[in-house]
Amino acid sequence: MDKNAEKVWTNCLKIIKDIVEWQHYKTWFEPIKPVSLKNNILIIQVPSQFFFEYLEEHYVNLLAKTLKRELGKDAGLEYRIMVDSGNIKNKPLTMDVSGQGFKTYSNNEMDFPLVISNPVKNPFVIPGLKKMQIDPQLNPIYTFDAFIEGDCNRVARRAGKAVAEKPGANSFNPLVIYGGVGLGKTHLAQAIGNEVKRLHPNKVVLYVSSEKFINQFMDHSRNNAINDFIHFYQLIDVLIIDDVQFFNKAEKSQDAFFAIFNHLHQSGKQLVLTSDKSPKDLEGVQERLLSRFRWGLSADLQIPDYETRIDILEKKMKNDGLEMPKEVVKYIAYNINSNVRELEGTLISLLAQSSLNRREIDLDLAKKVLRNFIRTSSKEITIDTIQKMVCEYFAVPYDKLLQKTRKREIVQARQITMYLAKAFTKNSLKTIGEHFGGRDHTTVIHSCQTVKDLMDTDSVFRENVLELQQKVQLAAM
Ligand code: ADP
Ligand code: MG
Repeated sequence: MDKNAEKVWTNCLKIIKDIVEWQHYKTWFEPIKPVSLKNNILIIQVPSQFFFEYLEEHYVNLLAKTLKRELGKDAGLEYRIMVDSGNIKNKPLTMDVSGQGFKTYSNNEMDFPLVISNPVKNPFVIPGLKKMQIDPQLNPIYTFDAFIEGDCNRVARRAGKAVAEKPGANSFNPLVIYGGVGLGKTHLAQAIGNEVKRLHPNKVVLYVSSEKFINQFMDHSRNNAINDFIHFYQLIDVLIIDDVQFFNKAEKSQDAFFAIFNHLHQSGKQLVLTSDKSPKDLEGVQERLLSRFRWGLSADLQIPDYETRIDILEKKMKNDGLEMPKEVVKYIAYNINSNVRELEGTLISLLAQSSLNRREIDLDLAKKVLRNFIRTSSKEITIDTIQKMVCEYFAVPYDKLLQKTRKREIVQARQITMYLAKAFTKNSLKTIGEHFGGRDHTTVIHSCQTVKDLMDTDSVFRENVLELQQKVQLAAM
């Protein structure tokens, strides 16, 4: 083994270790072996084609950053992919490929300079074309088709579709999509952009994170080019800004956004925003902006229920051409109930394990992976457990929860319990109803809906539900 390569790689790992969650680190970085370092190009050996693609897709930025830090700006990365690990008779078979993503990343980095010289280059404008063309910054994999609909996201998804069909000419302007991490905000926002481009190729679409917007604004501001900045944004037909919670306290950027918002809205252009909180709970955002956010529709994304989690997993598998036994899919869907990103992460860890160990995916492997790589439950959460937790939380007597009492506190506690039972157990609506003194499934549906509605309008109620949700999650670990 090349000593220099090893040294460089060890240094990279030190940084990567601090940044990547340990289970991801274990899955994706520990198996990598440094092979050689020549002409400032590091070759690393990876166990499979799949592994290589995964690194390229998910970690190329991190790899590029750390490697450039070690080797300087012209650092390069190549992969040696294990095709066959060989045996006594046959030598291992490998294949060398260069990191495509790494190259693109390096180019991109030049397009997004932090220090901008005057006149300010706009990073979204494709240079060298006569008519100004704006790169919409969309990732084509995020489509409506790939976004599974369930109770958790129906309103947001349908509103998104309506917006994409008639951008600017619908009553959802702005459309604000909000929800916790990994629940699909970026996916849905991007799907709207992609769908607009598909249906209306001439519309100018731009997706930008609020952080990038703020950085750009500051660059322009330093160069006394704020007007250029605002004018540029006023040319857009569909402006999608992701994670507006990061506008928090960026006063000047908010002023610019306010001007842009007003201009676009008045000219019948579409705005799509995402946020990790509902607009009324956003802190550090000017009231005049918040009141405009409320002009259109705010739609939330919730944690998908068990059935939807199964649908999502099956969709991902179908898209990637993968197969695994239904019981494994059910096992994952049942145990991973935090968010969709975790769900995907688990699926991928499982694939990696199966590919590394050259072993079919079965329930045993799934159990092993879930135990090792995701801190999660082997414990079953039952309706009874949830009932007891809610009773304790609200100091409501257990028998009252099951009886027909109509007292408001009790009704709410009962509704929340049904909601949590739907989200965290795999019982049918019918079974859940039966656990509440023989109510029928429509009562359960109604309860779940009421809880969702109240969470939107009553922040104390929402806090209570979220806290309980956490307790249930902890109990499942
Ligand atoms: P957020 O921006 O809310 O943190 P993302 O949009 O990045 O979440 O979603 C995390 C991952 O989960 C993405 O890979 C996305 O494709 C996937 N995802 C989320 N919701 C769905 C859904 N309803 N159907 C299919 N995939 C989903
Ligand atoms: Mg996001």
